Amino acid sequence: MTIVKAENVGKFYETGTVTVQALKDVSFSIEAGTITSFIGPSGSGKTTLLNLIGCLDKPSSGRLDVGGSNVLALDRTNSAKFRGGNIGFIFQDFNLVPILTVYENVEYPLVMVRDTPAAERRKLVLNLLEAVEMADQSEKYPDQISGGQKQRVAIARALVTSPKLVLADEPTANLDHKTAYMILSLMKKMRDELSTTFIFSTHDPKIVGEAECIYTIEDGILTGQQEKGAANHA
Ligand code: ADP
Ligand code: MG
Repeated sequence: MTIVKAENVGKFYETGTVTVQALKDVSFSIEAGTITSFIGPSGSGKTTLLNLIGCLDKPSSGRLDVGGSNVLALDRTNSAKFRGGNIGFIFQDFNLVPILTVYENVEYPLVMVRDTPAAERRKLVLNLLEAVEMADQSEKYPDQISGGQKQRVAIARALVTSPKLVLADEPTANLDHKTAYMILSLMKKMRDELSTTFIFSTHDPKIVGEAECIYTIEDGILTGQQEKGAANHA
């Protein structure tokens, strides 16, 4: 099943008198239950593309289908609903809520979009905090933990609703090797058990090594595609 399909997607930003063409005629499709990685230099359009796939922004041209819906046809309310129910985000700058504790940050999506009973919510939050080894920091606030720890909280928050699609913008950039591998194995377990689809932007060779499909993006253009079988990647 195809979960993301882009046909000639373009995106430009207007800033004052200058127009920046961030994506040009980008076409690809991503199968459900796979791990895909977009790699490319800074400024090549990776974050722009993830924001479009995550329905946080709309393409300027072309067609983009996510989870079978044409994202241009979703209005604000429906696109928020769609996101909340289907997509987990790991933002490049974490986007943790500063006035909420670590625990409350991870609980937040469950409170916002899912009608999850309190006891079940607690179980889900604690499971994820343990999985990212942050359970002992759960009462701290974001400004009391390190960058790598914030990253782990952001990952727990993105995964807590078991979304169909997880978008991760350079998710292991702030993590040490051991933690990065731990997070990667957590993601692979979700993929195997729940058929979660993961789309990364990354420079990290560890992630690139796990991805079944790798797209190279340069100056807003897809310049390369490399596929590996899910079963036989080393
Ligand atoms: P990457 O994530 O690969 O570093 P981005 O998607 O952030 O690349 O940026 C692609 C291009 O679009 C860059 O030239 C960047 O400066 C520009 N850009 C990104 N976001 C905006 C924005 N909100 N307004 C104007 N230009 C932007
Ligand atoms: Mg970026």
